[in-house]
Amino acid sequence: MTQTKLIIITALFFTLFSNYSFFNNVLEVYPLGDGNILYILSLSIILFAFMVLLFTLLSSKYTTKPILILLLLVSSFTAYFMNSYHVVIDTDMIRNTMQTNIDESSDLFSFKLLIYLLLLGILPAYLVYKTPLYYGSFKTELLKKGKVMLFSILIIVIMLFSFSKFYTSFFREHKPLRYYTNPTYWIYSIGDYIAKTFNSGEIVLKSIGVDAKVVKKEEKPKLVIVVVGEATRADHFSLNGYSRETNPLLKKENIINLPHVNSCGTSTAYSVPCMFSIYDRGEYSYKKGISTENVLDVLYHTNSIDILWRDNNSDSKGVALRVPFEDYKTSKNNTICDEECRDEGMLVGLDKYIKKRDGKDVLIVLHQMGNHGPAYNRRYTKKFEKFTPVCETNQLEECSKESINNAYDNALLHTDYFLSEVIHLLKKHDKKYKTTMIYMSDHGESLGENGIYLHGLPYFIAPKAQTHIGAVVWFGKNNQIKFDPTKQYSHDNLFHTLLGLFNVQTKVYDKKMDMFK
Ligand SMILES: [Zn+2]
Repeated sequence: MTQTKLIIITALFFTLFSNYSFFNNVLEVYPLGDGNILYILSLSIILFAFMVLLFTLLSSKYTTKPILILLLLVSSFTAYFMNSYHVVIDTDMIRNTMQTNIDESSDLFSFKLLIYLLLLGILPAYLVYKTPLYYGSFKTELLKKGKVMLFSILIIVIMLFSFSKFYTSFFREHKPLRYYTNPTYWIYSIGDYIAKTFNSGEIVLKSIGVDAKVVKKEEKPKLVIVVVGEATRADHFSLNGYSRETNPLLKKENIINLPHVNSCGTSTAYSVPCMFSIYDRGEYSYKKGISTENVLDVLYHTNSIDILWRDNNSDSKGVALRVPFEDYKTSKNNTICDEECRDEGMLVGLDKYIKKRDGKDVLIVLHQMGNHGPAYNRRYTKKFEKFTPVCETNQLEECSKESINNAYDNALLHTDYFLSEVIHLLKKHDKKYKTTMIYMSDHGESLGENGIYLHGLPYFIAPKAQTHIGAVVWFGKNNQIKFDPTKQYSHDNLFHTLLGLFNVQTKVYDKKMDMFK
């Protein structure tokens, strides 16, 4: 067949079979019963015509087949994740994917994914591969390409004008709907990701806070442990009034719960660099984050604080590039590993490390595996399985809401235990140090409310479950700081709070943002 015909068939296939999530979301906003059927039909035609336009633009004797095959294969993945977890494949999701390691992705493999891969990817890709294509002369092909593209544009324009009122509402008030189109939106996202990541010129690291120095030397040095949590949502903490006891050990400690803390982003790759950066949520971007020093660098500039980052998550997302970093996802360093390495393994040997500091100020950051989904049931050992039955598959939509909550809450019990162990460790050094623990999750988590799972939705459409995070502070005996924990705080506060805790004087310190001042 001609390549035009192949393109039309493939675009039709995408429209009919790979856009379940898109039409599902459209129907939620524009239900069929309200006479919306014509709109939805025209929307399908636009989506189809747009794909024909795009594929034709990219087509040539050497590119048509490879491109269509690649699009089919990748789209079978994206269709699976969008349908199963209600995620969208935006620029941040691409970045998350690029920064995810095999261990984390293996949590996502399932039989259903294989079916998607086979029916929406491999099989149609194979048919494309096997179809012999007829090509005319360069001139005829070019002319035909022009005609097809012109015709596609014409169809799109006619549709837009015929239903202009509908499209005004569609594009203006329901902008997020287009995030669910497959493969068009992920193609756009990859382009955007590449433009933002590679095409932005060489990254020159901007130093900040080079004037930083520790003032008011007190007789006792400071020992601060920051725990960066993973995917704990505030409303599942019993400290925040959750009906189940999910903080049984923490509540026995003299902790201060922070009930109103918002995350900077809805994913690890966005939130972690943002929380250590000088920028607030409004100003922060990935590019600014990697091209500006963070609070660890500023503390380092004082030359009087020892810093250590231990990571059991994936990595520090670029935060600890210039300070000592230890990977605890490997049994080479982590001595507490069974089917996976456990967060409490990060505490082994810290006693020794602290003693070696010889009375210097110390900051330790522990980046947890925490409640990393969807396999919550793998995030804890048997002794934390208090709530049953638990969802045992990564196909959350197949589990009952109750069993997902059970597994998630059991994982919270494990974090509760971990944090209480951090406090026990700090208590051992209470005599020699002024000790503090700050715990903040990187983002929240959706557990199936309105069919939404996991996290990573664009901030402005993300439900509160993904942005309202668990956060707790603990002070040692010699360090009883009074502050108002009930105020509204966010990741934006961490930068200045850490500078304040270590009595660091620098131009970049903003007292108003310091939670403890
Ligand atoms: Zn995360």
